Amino acid sequence: MEKSVLIAGAGLGGLATALRLSGKGYKVHIVEKNSQPGGRVNQIKKDGFTFDTGPSFFSMSYEFKQFAAECNIELPFSYYSLDPLYTVNFRGNPKTYFLYKDIKKLAEQFIEKEPDFEQKMHRYLDRFLRFHAPNN
Ligand SMILES: Cc1cc2nc3c(=O)[nH]c(=O)nc-3n(C[C@H](O)[C@H](O)[C@H](O)COP(=O)(O)OP(=O)(O)OC[C@H]3O[C@@H](n4cnc5c(N)ncnc54)[C@H](O)[C@@H]3O)c2cc1C
Repeated sequence: MEKSVLIAGAGLGGLATALRLSGKGYKVHIVEKNSQPGGRVNQIKKDGFTFDTGPSFFSMSYEFKQFAAECNIELPFSYYSLDPLYTVNFRGNPKTYFLYKDIKKLAEQFIEKEPDFEQKMHRYLDRFLRFHAPNN
């Protein structure tokens, strides 16, 4: 007998789960409380302006590549690397902080606030990669 699944919410999580399960032969229904899918990945249009309500970049592209491979679909976009990823300004502080991928360059941004930033970052990333990176 065909198994049925009901997914509440058509955000990225619900949509990805639906694709994965339907690829495994499940009959999938999605219910969404809003008038359009996407969840936080959406836009608000007002007075001629368009505002993104959520993400502006993918920080874990390998997840999407793995997802596309598992679901046997082609992603409708290609990636390009942003460097710096983004910039941050704090009110009352004229300095612009650049979020670089290069940890040495990134650490230089914060040298006055956190001189051991680089070592801490490496420690954090080592721990993170041990648990989360693919093939680890
Ligand atoms: C301002 C902002 C910036 C972000 N920037 C980034 C970024 O740059 N890069 C990045 O990777 N991530 C970013 N994120 C995070 C990313 O948007 C979310 O992690 C992701 O979209 C969450 O997807 P989700 O499916 O888990 O949840 P949601 O997108 O919240 O989807 C949940 C869905 O379930 C629906 N729902 C809830 N309850 C019910 C119910 N009872 N019945 C039916 N439907 C229901 C909701 O309407 C919604 O459509 C950002 C988020 C925000 C808010």
